[in-house]
This record gives sequence, structure tokens and C-alpha cells, in this order.
Amino acid sequence: MSGSAGRLEVITGPMFSGKSTELLRRLRLAQVARKKTAAFKHASDVRYSDDQIATHAEQRGWAMGVSTAREILEAWHARGAQVIGIDEAQFFGEELIESVEVLLQRGRRVIVAGLNQDSFGRPFGHMPELLARADALFLTTAVCMVCGDEATKTFRKPGIGSQQVLVGAEQEYEARCRACWVAGERARAGPGDGDF
Ligand SMILES: [Zn+2]
Repeated sequence: MSGSAGRLEVITGPMFSGKSTELLRRLRLAQVARKKTAAFKHASDVRYSDDQIATHAEQRGWAMGVSTAREILEAWHARGAQVIGIDEAQFFGEELIESVEVLLQRGRRVIVAGLNQDSFGRPFGHMPELLARADALFLTTAVCMVCGDEATKTFRKPGIGSQQVLVGAEQEYEARCRACWVAGERARAGPGDGDF
């Protein structure tokens, strides 16, 4: 790939589905192809990781923590990377779209990883906008912790507060298939309240 026209790849799925691992794998391959890479993740997210491998990678500091997408552009200018990875994209504000577009206009390959849905099953942050703009999509799935089927949803375990996703609290969540996720939400709603 010449990369001169820019390319947006989006890796998305529930928690524990290996999104960060897939992002890291693509960056490693780009490095093998002698491309200069740069990786970023949201700074509020330092304790959260998608899975064990990402945790170990994180300890090696593979991604630079930034608070806003503008910082990604500033750091990119400084490094001149050809391939830019952005992890936990759901935590960034609307300016992420603009920053990604700038990188694409400069002919860069941008690989974004993030949660497509929150634990309520709602589209998360500005991920829908990125999914719509992508040249290539990759949906990662996890394993349902109830039945072992393929999991596409993030379930918030009972007894947790109502925040969208608690930073640094992956133990509060588990991956579930849609059927087990719905069953869990109905059980949470209580008798007579979950019939819709
Ligand atoms: Zn299940």
C-alpha cells in the first residue's frame, strides 16, 4: 500500500475481545515494513486494558497517553509517523474526528481501536462517526462468560454504579453474548420491569 491517499481502519467490539492486541499487531507489522509508527491512548484510561497481552504491552509503554485528540496531532507532527494507532478511541471528544481527518488528508494510515457500545448497549462516544468514515472495519468478539458462545456485548455486573464505563475497573464488567446480556439486563430491571 502506498498510503498516499490515507486509510482509516477501525477495530471495534466489546471489552476483553483483543482490540488493543489487534491494534498492536498491525503496528508491529507496519514496523516490519519499515514504516514509522506512533501509538496513542486516552490518558484517563491508564489502568484499563483490553486483555492480558495489552497489559504487558502497556507496561512497555507502547502507547502515549494523551488527554485530547489535538495532542495526537501535535505529537504526530513532532514524530512524522506514517502509521498512527489510537486506542480506547471511545473516550475522546468530538475533536478526534477532525484530527483523524487531518491525518488522512496528509496521506497517513490511521488505525483506531475502541468500544462500539457501552454496557447499556448504546453507541459509545464518537465511535459511530469513525465507523461510518472507515475504509476497513474489524469486529472483534470475546467469549460469553455465562454460556461460552461468541460475545459481542459488554455486561456490567450487578451492584455497580451507573457510570458509562468505569475507568480502571475492568473487573466490574464481563463479555456476554446478546442473549445472556439481555437476560442479565432483565434480571437487573426486576420482575415486571424488564418486559419490553
Ligand atoms: Zn451467552
